[in-house]
Amino acid sequence: MMTLAGNLHINESRFREDFQRLTRDGATPDGGLNRPALSIAHLAARETFQDMIWQRGFTARSDLAGNLSACHYPSMQTKPVLMLGSHLDSVKDGGRFDGTLGVAAAFEVLQVLREHGLDRPLEVMDFTDEEGTWVSLMGSRAISGQLTRKDLTNPRGDLETFQRVLQRAGLSISGILSAKRNAEDLCAYLELHIEQGTRLEKSRTDIGIVTGMVGIHMYLVTFSGQANHAGTTLMSERHDAALGASKFCLMVQETVTERFPNCVATVGRMDFSPGTFNIVAGQVTVFMELRTEDAERAEELQQALYEAAEHSAKMFDLGIDFQHLESVTERRMHPTVIEAFEAGVSALGFSSRRLPSLAGHDAQSMARLCRSGLIFVPSAGGFSHSSREYTCWEDCVNGANVLLNAARQLVASF
Ligand SMILES: [Zn+2]
Repeated sequence: MMTLAGNLHINESRFREDFQRLTRDGATPDGGLNRPALSIAHLAARETFQDMIWQRGFTARSDLAGNLSACHYPSMQTKPVLMLGSHLDSVKDGGRFDGTLGVAAAFEVLQVLREHGLDRPLEVMDFTDEEGTWVSLMGSRAISGQLTRKDLTNPRGDLETFQRVLQRAGLSISGILSAKRNAEDLCAYLELHIEQGTRLEKSRTDIGIVTGMVGIHMYLVTFSGQANHAGTTLMSERHDAALGASKFCLMVQETVTERFPNCVATVGRMDFSPGTFNIVAGQVTVFMELRTEDAERAEELQQALYEAAEHSAKMFDLGIDFQHLESVTERRMHPTVIEAFEAGVSALGFSSRRLPSLAGHDAQSMARLCRSGLIFVPSAGGFSHSSREYTCWEDCVNGANVLLNAARQLVASF
């Protein structure tokens, strides 16, 4: 039996060695990682992980969504599984820490818990396509039953190529749709990830304990004026959609910084029609999204931005169409897991703060299936999805130790 007295600590040199091994496939000369989901480099990384699983005497399991896991299922043990994990895929020309650090840390935790005689089922998961090279959070949405055939037949990139890479990996769309796990088989899901922002670094905090993932709300805002000759139309006679759109873009920034401090909003694209040098823009469509953890605030911000769009249109005598395109709802992390992380932080003498995650993670899909929690370790300079992504080793070790002690506490309490 495992002893519950005192803190456990990870084996730092083994953790470092495993992390280095897991970041070799797809490594780029500038210190980054290039292994989009289901690419040759990604499949090679999975093979590496599978070898590590076998070498350390665990059972490797691949499910129908391609998720690869290291399993420790003691015989005669029917209690629900504690799952830990993250992802080995990267964005194109991404960094070494995003995802892979979480898999390496979870694998280290698994080994330490087994060494301490843990007799509870444990599983360390490498989820398929977290980054959405094809379908965002594909593996974790598959096992939590949140994928539809439509999601899978409308991948990023074209369907034919997607089907070809699936086939190469031994997967299929119908297989992915039947990869769902049962909620009652899982006790909780824990993940460690880099912050990918500067909140921890700036506040000199060791660990970020994620309270939830922000909701993401997407809009198309179209300003309609009149296309006209760029030479002969007097400035005073124009109905220039470009001006309304530009004014709106600035108002988005003002509105959020002045009145909605915990939200972010972004104009990521503007489409001009007809879209050329010598014609006053007749129509401009603005692609805008906003993110916040608070559904009520999202509604208030949406209303404020709608008013900003109307104001901008009126200023330049334009028509306006404000269309809500799509929302990804916010997701709360489970209080029991948050508390287990906080207990780990204080037992180890670290500092922590609660914060929302501004990016999507596998833990948000898993929250639909079981009690889920996520911790962040600091990202130097906030760089991510780039070869400049970096977390100092001490922070990686601290995070893994918090993950370990929270996992131990949770298995003891369920
Ligand atoms: Zn990630």
